[in-house]
Amino acid sequence: MSQAINIAIDGYSSTGKSTLARQLAGKLGYRYIDTGAMYRGVTLYALRKGLIINGKVLQQLEFDLPRIQLEFIHNKNRGASDLYLNGENVEEAIREMMVAKAVSKVAAVSSVRKYLVEAQQKMAAQKGVVMDGRDIGTVVLPEAELKVFVTASQEIRTERRYQELKQLGKVLSKTEVEANLMERDLLDTTRKDSPLKQAKGALLLDNSGLSREEQLDLVRGWVDERLATCAE
Ligand code: C5P
Repeated sequence: MSQAINIAIDGYSSTGKSTLARQLAGKLGYRYIDTGAMYRGVTLYALRKGLIINGKVLQQLEFDLPRIQLEFIHNKNRGASDLYLNGENVEEAIREMMVAKAVSKVAAVSSVRKYLVEAQQKMAAQKGVVMDGRDIGTVVLPEAELKVFVTASQEIRTERRYQELKQLGKVLSKTEVEANLMERDLLDTTRKDSPLKQAKGALLLDNSGLSREEQLDLVRGWVDERLATCAE
């Protein structure tokens, strides 16, 4: 087997990054790490402890960080990993709209980012990781052998997210779904610490007109090229 590489996938909300990253990891036998789930886990903790008041994140969260243990544990039924917050499976709870509405504010807090980035870098130290998020190619793994920046039209992203939530039994209006995506993208691209942007050397993937299979094939081609280069 050729030497394992690290793959960084960044992009806007609901561009299908996670699906791509998970499928890619499955094909390559790599580990998939959903860093968005980690920010959502910290947000859930903060909401439960009353550390977000009127949309403002209290400084106490910084002091609580060492008490927030996040872990990914494989769920055989789903064929994917679930996030555990201090030993509790919170995979479903972190997908609630309440969390989606607050997460970008928590993600703008530098101490939170520092705490999670260190954990993510440790997870990727042995290589063979596909990691998706907003700052993977720019901050977490700037040396990743393959970096991809994913985008898609706003209509398509809204529709995908709407269908995803519907399948989870959460019926929201498309307007509400779109407003949340737009708000998160705005906060994520304009925050001071590690704003979302295309990393140097990242390949741009606009998947608006691509099926999941076509997207996977395209990126697998890029992976093969990188593996060949690394083997030279
Ligand atoms: O990927 P997902 O949409 O679940 O991410 C939720 C939020 O977490 C993003 O909107 C962003 O605010 C934050 N995030 C981040 N950096 C990452 C991953 C996610 O700031 N690497």
